[in-house]
Amino acid sequence: MRPLHIDFDAGALRRNHGIARQHAGKGTRLWSVVKADAYGHGLIRTVETLADLADGFALIELEGAIALRQAGFRQPILMLEGFYHADEIPLFIHHDLTPVLHSQLQIEIFLRTPLPTAYLKLNTGMNRLGLEPREFLQAFHALHHVTDVTLMTHFADADDARGVDWQMARWTTLCDALGKKTSLANSAALLKYPETGGQWARPGIMLYGGSPFPDTPAAALNLQPVMTLKSEVIALRELQPGDRVGYGGTFTAETSMRIAIVACGYGDGYPRHAATGTPILVGNQRTRTLGRVSMDKLCVDITNRTDVNVGTPVTLWGKGLPVEEVATAASTISYELFCAVTSRH
Ligand SMILES: *Cc1c(COP(=O)(O)O)cnc(C)c1O
Repeated sequence: MRPLHIDFDAGALRRNHGIARQHAGKGTRLWSVVKADAYGHGLIRTVETLADLADGFALIELEGAIALRQAGFRQPILMLEGFYHADEIPLFIHHDLTPVLHSQLQIEIFLRTPLPTAYLKLNTGMNRLGLEPREFLQAFHALHHVTDVTLMTHFADADDARGVDWQMARWTTLCDALGKKTSLANSAALLKYPETGGQWARPGIMLYGGSPFPDTPAAALNLQPVMTLKSEVIALRELQPGDRVGYGGTFTAETSMRIAIVACGYGDGYPRHAATGTPILVGNQRTRTLGRVSMDKLCVDITNRTDVNVGTPVTLWGKGLPVEEVATAASTISYELFCAVTSRH
């Protein structure tokens, strides 16, 4: 069997949920966000691990929500993009799913067959999903007699310098007077602005041990990696000065070197944009990648190492190597690396 696999640390997932709980405080319940196959961690095993801790699960995919119901999970489920077509409504009813209503079209469909619960989403400036203030108020007045409405928005800058105040100003103007339950905070807001927690916060990345902040390592937030992406060395090679490595020969040896070939590439979700020098653990020691990442393989520097053989374990990211370091080297964020891990492991 190809040695690439995910080590899934259920204990870390549960402890990270506990950290989210601490930040949320007593009055705030938590949607555990498990969209995109639980950020690449596996939907069912993630939900199983959190089943006795989570207040509810939030995701995007209707198939995923139905799979959770069929596996016997009875917690509330929030569908973050709601339904896409009217013909999904019977499934929402049958499986007891709560839709986010973010568009006028959804409101029209919903009013024909109101469900017991719904989230009503206000655009406060992210300009992605959400109703404009006028539509939002109209929808609220049409809905709140027939359904249990929770008010929702999403922050665009909770992880950076611009922060949430500018969006909160638009939010409070409209929503404070309505006296309803609210849901605003993602991981970054929950950690940095816990006062935005409302009745239901929506942490995602922090559950998986990723930091939502560009400049704060996850460990500084007491978060632990849930996914460790592991593989093995499958070949060793000596290089002479002038030898080049991989497609396009983008790395050239200047001295004699030893390299190892690792079974992991962009076909597995490792970022092709990770340049020469991306950190990687071979055995338990840090080294660097060399040359371009291929579909199934990448090359690493093991010059002066005597402990490396075919079969030596390699950590691409996770325990011992924060995913953020690899993400930075590939000009992306942990979220994208997690989600890209393919089912080939
Ligand atoms: C993905 C998502 C979240 C979770 O965001 P994190 O940054 O991973 O905590 C929360 N709310 C909505 C609407 C989302 O789409």
